[in-house]
Amino acid sequence: MIENEVQLISCPTCGRTQIDLIKIANEVEERLRSVHKPIRVAVMGCPVNGPGEAKNADIGIAGGKGCGLIFKKGEIVKKVPEEQLIDELFSEIERL
Ligand code: SF4
Repeated sequence: MIENEVQLISCPTCGRTQIDLIKIANEVEERLRSVHKPIRVAVMGCPVNGPGEAKNADIGIAGGKGCGLIFKKGEIVKKVPEEQLIDELFSEIERL
């Protein structure tokens, strides 16, 4: 991994996707431009396979019904309303 480079992983979406994944992934990508840390960030569409599929990520979100999960290192750490998901993700990224 290149020093201070963020890697963004997003799931390909499928029938289980529960959030507006493309829109959220685009916004996360935009906001990550001002983050300069050597981290992997995952944006996943569901809580079933999202954390597992992103287990190599340092931090990420997984969509749920009207809410989303924040996970770190493949473990769920917090559940937040969908509209707060991106802000919460970035609060956690600041703490990394
Ligand atoms: S993380 Fe969930 S929504 Fe995304 S592709 Fe995998 S199963 Fe589908």
